[in-house]
Amino acid sequence: MTDIKENLKQIRGVITQRAAAAGRDPAEITLVAVTKTVSPELVNEALAAGVTDLGENRVQEAVKKSAAVNRGFHWHLIGHLQTNKVKPAINLFELIHSVDSLKLVETIDEEAGETGKIQNILIEVNISGEDSKYGCLPGQTLELIKFASTKSNVQVAGLMTIAPFADDEDQIRGVFRGLRELKEKVAAAQLPKVEMKHLSMGMSHDFGIAIEEGATILRIGTAIFGKR
Ligand SMILES: *Cc1c(COP(=O)(O)O)cnc(C)c1O
Repeated sequence: MTDIKENLKQIRGVITQRAAAAGRDPAEITLVAVTKTVSPELVNEALAAGVTDLGENRVQEAVKKSAAVNRGFHWHLIGHLQTNKVKPAINLFELIHSVDSLKLVETIDEEAGETGKIQNILIEVNISGEDSKYGCLPGQTLELIKFASTKSNVQVAGLMTIAPFADDEDQIRGVFRGLRELKEKVAAAQLPKVEMKHLSMGMSHDFGIAIEEGATILRIGTAIFGKR
């Protein structure tokens, strides 16, 4: 067994176990294999081992990799998106996790309209409030989603966040819980066309906690492919 196959097996085991412990159905949790800096050969190994979803941080890297890896998976954009990269992003990604401004929503709506696509998006929220992080602030989230709900070529499907890189489990849990509570708040507003279905949260070092706090999409790189 290659490392990748073995790593995936272990991760799937942890997902099943932590979901069960939290009274959740593991089938409602999607594993996105994060492929930044990973070679197409290794990405193909992961696909052969049953990975269905891939995540990239950069549009350009995903464009290149697309040409070199086997078909039949769902692409996720998980990194910051500049407005001048929106067009290729729409051509490639099924779900854009990193939408955090009115300007970006507007640009995505325009470009998706031209492409004839309805683009699924998540709103990235900076729950921890760290300066170094992208994402809108929790207090701006509802307003941003209201704005998106008026656009015919974008579909809001939930929220995304990145926890602080910390050893303090309570701190990480607090961030994930904050995102879940925000999702519930937005869902209660019952905005037209807005489906608060996804919580994209949890990475290699904290996905177990994320599962307990309601994650539906895990973004995992290092634990699958090794250190970058
Ligand atoms: C790199 C990255 C991940 C994966 O991180 P690992 O610690 O390697 O699992 C997840 N989400 C985002 C936004 C990332 O940039």
